[in-house]
This record gives sequence, C-alpha cells and structure tokens, in this order.
Amino acid sequence: MRRKDELGVLRMVLEEQYERHSTQLALLDRQAGDSRCRGGDADTAAVLTASSRQALGDIARALHYLDHDAYGCCEQCRTEIPIEHLAQHPAVRFCTSCEP
Ligand SMILES: [Zn+2]
Repeated sequence: MRRKDELGVLRMVLEEQYERHSTQLALLDRQAGDSRCRGGDADTAAVLTASSRQALGDIARALHYLDHDAYGCCEQCRTEIPIEHLAQHPAVRFCTSCEP
C-alpha cells in the first residue's frame, strides 16, 4: 500500500477513535452527575474525563494535520514517522527518538 492510502486508513481509525472518546466523555459527564448524588468515585471519573479530553485534542490535531498534508511528521525533528508506528499510535506527535 502506498503511504497516501495508508494515511487514508489511519484517518478512518482516528475518526473512529474520536467518536469513541466523544461517547466516553458524554457517558462520564452523565456519570459525574449521578455520582454527585451518591458520593461516588468522582476522582476516577475526573481522571478519565481529563484523559479523554486530552485524547480528543490529540486526535483533532492529527485530523487537522491530515487535512493539510502535514500528518505523520515528527513535530520536533520533522522526520517522517514510520507507518507501523502511526498504525499503533495514530495521534502520536513525535518520532520514537523525540518522544518525551
Ligand atoms: Zn523526531
């Protein structure tokens, strides 16, 4: 498969993940409303909410890069990130050497 086609597949993966995190966030919001009444585990929900928000931001950025042909390059050294790595971490921003 050519890289362009592979990026098309990754776009679908990203859109699917975006969908999933949006749903999770909506569920967490509702749960947060519930747990306030029952004194439930608000801390865990807050952590999950934060990580879902973070993921949504990362995915939105990746999709934006895809739209502008800037996707798949390391933000630090501008090296093209191998497609195998992108397949595992579609919203990744850095190559393996620059990853914090
Ligand atoms: Zn890099």
